[in-house]
Amino acid sequence: MTDYSKMSEDQFRQMVRDFISENLPPEMAARWKKMYHPYKPDVVWWTSKLNEVGWSVPGWPVEYGGPDWTIAQRHIFEEEVFLAGCPALSPQGLTLVGPVICHYGTPEQKDFHLPKIRSGEIMWAQGFSEPNAGSDLAALQCRAVRDGDEYVVNGQKIWTSEAHYSEWVFMLVRTSTEGKKQAGISFLLIDLDTPGITIRPIISIDGGHELNEVFFEDVRVPASNLVGEENKGWTYAKELLAEERTFSAEVKRHKGQLRRIKNIARETKIRGRPLIEDPHFQRRLAQLEIEVLAHEATLWRVVAEEEAGILGAAPTPSILKVRGTELVQRLGALMIEALEEAGLPYYAEHDYFLTEPADPPGRPDAYGVSSDFMFRRSLTIYGGSNEVQRNIIAGQLLRN
Ligand SMILES: Cc1cc2nc3c(=O)[nH]c(=O)nc-3n(C[C@H](O)[C@H](O)[C@H](O)COP(=O)(O)OP(=O)(O)OC[C@H]3O[C@@H](n4cnc5c(N)ncnc54)[C@H](O)[C@@H]3O)c2cc1C
Repeated sequence: MTDYSKMSEDQFRQMVRDFISENLPPEMAARWKKMYHPYKPDVVWWTSKLNEVGWSVPGWPVEYGGPDWTIAQRHIFEEEVFLAGCPALSPQGLTLVGPVICHYGTPEQKDFHLPKIRSGEIMWAQGFSEPNAGSDLAALQCRAVRDGDEYVVNGQKIWTSEAHYSEWVFMLVRTSTEGKKQAGISFLLIDLDTPGITIRPIISIDGGHELNEVFFEDVRVPASNLVGEENKGWTYAKELLAEERTFSAEVKRHKGQLRRIKNIARETKIRGRPLIEDPHFQRRLAQLEIEVLAHEATLWRVVAEEEAGILGAAPTPSILKVRGTELVQRLGALMIEALEEAGLPYYAEHDYFLTEPADPPGRPDAYGVSSDFMFRRSLTIYGGSNEVQRNIIAGQLLRN
């Protein structure tokens, strides 16, 4: 096995670049660079390719197949694969439920699930949110009642990303109504083919189908699919949500957006001159670029602190999330403006996960920009809304 700890950051970056140039099919990169949402066959293929060298699960413990990278190496990898146009991997299995199974799963759960998650053979959905339990997640009502060797599940989940093409869902379910609401929640793994499950699409503002409502009616789940102890699910879920401390900073996306804005602004002509030469546009672009650089510097400072084990009391993950997601939205808005009338909404990606996208007519560099802009409104909502993050920042800073 390669010893990555002996590599400099430059050597590591070069190794990742070499791997990508040798293995990534150009047509796959072309699809993703146009901001198509990931196309499932691409995602599955690329996950299995990365798995061949042990790179599909950078955050997992080594004994379960993780490559033992430093946090800095993980960030370098994320940036390189994103900017090269590699299909975005589905995070639910690889970065959310996978580590929970590594830490709390039974030997049988580990043997059955971990290899299939690592290789991309099985896709997962996350069944946490409900119509009346989003920011206040512990208010969830979906019930699982023990009946012999099974749980019987009844209730509803909502905003369940990718459920329509996933094979399994990991769920938070209510197993007790006694005591504090957090103390009656369990973590259950459910095969989405089980009778009694209905998945209905939610078409989002970008015209696409990523989100779903999932209904459970007397769904019988083997009790052996419980992760850890009954009524301890809240603890595991909190760990899962805290797992990715710095990975919502979005710097890789900012860099891709800046690159694309500049390319677009070279093509857009204002009174016969490229927009990129317009001083007013240049000022606005420079302002955003400076903010991205400052944000990146903050990210690397936090990574260095995290690696040195000296992460302070400051709510840095929340700060990185708020700042990073808002910058994505502002860069997206400038990209739309740079396209002029070609930036008007155009939805061609209705079933993007399951249908190979075709090029639409019109300005080629405009494709996907408006639908991506619309979809990324959601960045400030999911993963803990930015208002809630601001509460955390204020609470921690005012307390200290
Ligand atoms: C694109 C997308 C994908 C998603 N994927 C998944 C998924 O795969 N699985 C899953 O389980 N969930 C998923 N979610 C759901 C997501 O986790 C929730 O949308 C999020 O937790 C917010 O909950 P909510 O939508 O119920 O809004 P609410 O919690 O009802 O919030 C509504 C508004 O009130 C504000 N608010 C709420 N509480 C406070 C407070 N205490 N102080 C100040 N303001 C507050 C919020 O910021 C928001 O603006 C997804 C959401 C989106 C948009």
